[in-house]
Amino acid sequence: MSENKGVWVFSEDLDLTMEMLGKGRELADKLQTSLAAVVIGNNLKKKADGLAKYGADKVYLAEDPALERFHPESHLAVLFNILNNFKPEILLVGSTRNGKPIAARLAMRLGTGCIPDCTNLDLDERGRLVCERVTYGGNAVAKLVFKTKPQIATVPARAFDEPEPKDHNGQLVKLDLKVETPKVEIVETKPLETSSVRIEEADVIISCGRGLEKKEDISMLEGVSKVLCGQIGCSRPLAEDRKWFSEWVGLSGHKVRPKLYVACGISGVIQHVAGIREAKIIVAINKDPEAPIFEVADYGVVGNLYEILPALKEALQKQP
Ligand SMILES: Cc1cc2nc3c(=O)[nH]c(=O)nc-3n(C[C@H](O)[C@H](O)[C@H](O)COP(=O)(O)OP(=O)(O)OC[C@H]3O[C@@H](n4cnc5c(N)ncnc54)[C@H](O)[C@@H]3O)c2cc1C
Repeated sequence: MSENKGVWVFSEDLDLTMEMLGKGRELADKLQTSLAAVVIGNNLKKKADGLAKYGADKVYLAEDPALERFHPESHLAVLFNILNNFKPEILLVGSTRNGKPIAARLAMRLGTGCIPDCTNLDLDERGRLVCERVTYGGNAVAKLVFKTKPQIATVPARAFDEPEPKDHNGQLVKLDLKVETPKVEIVETKPLETSSVRIEEADVIISCGRGLEKKEDISMLEGVSKVLCGQIGCSRPLAEDRKWFSEWVGLSGHKVRPKLYVACGISGVIQHVAGIREAKIIVAINKDPEAPIFEVADYGVVGNLYEILPALKEALQKQP
């Protein structure tokens, strides 16, 4: 019988840790085991305490001034020590820019597997974690199970609903650990220029594609977005090729779940659509009636976005 026990969650993004606790609780209850969260950083006691309300039986806090900033080596070493000691059965790691590589390296050190970007998690009749992830450019969903433990899966933001706070708090456990000096020193970090709200959290996204001719024309989308209190998104070419944005929506970008997604001048190929499947309502504005975006759109406007967007803004402003 395996000595691995318990479901654990970790992300350097504590909002994502909280989201994963909901799914973690469900898995732990089915397995009749405990749920724990790991928080690594400095001066995070209050935040770790806050997490204890969301279903975790225990929140393990690893604090040290040397852990103030995320450092892949130090965080990996700390996480490895904790997990090697507690031997969880399942570990969910937030699929962030830092989380994904750390999960893979952790799996390597623990001699186990890692399944990235899981959009659904369940258990099979043998209690093994069944991970679902989008594959083949968004054309298929793969179901995967592990042969080894711990079973390490990474989870993107908003893959699962936020859990409701519980009546009773889990226990906060401070870990006493020695942080070794990493071999690589981070000399400087600069914040990436991104929108103030994470696009994965936006309720309304007005997104543009190559149908937008000039960078200045983004102001047209901003006009509509302002009325709807939304955020601007884009397809990959506008970020990767034209460098107008630093992030994009889609398979290789952000998966979003807004209440409203307006795709302006976006063709809607599979790689883009893979990121917007969870949107509640999709509106497409495209001059080509054959554009694939209309296949997934709830509402479609065939027309020139340079005419439609100003008219839409005007109509919205007239709304009481
Ligand atoms: C491995 C891989 C991963 C990828 N990941 C992503 C990803 O995460 N996200 C992503 O977006 N793409 C991704 N791509 C790129 C993707 O394949 C497409 O190239 C891209 O999504 C196309 O962007 P677009 O729709 O803006 O441009 P286009 O395909 O060129 O579409 C422009 C659309 O605008 C319409 N249009 C033009 N002018 C107007 C106008 N005045 N008014 C209204 N409509 C107009 C056109 O009819 C057309 O439908 C990926 C590609 C690969 C190979």
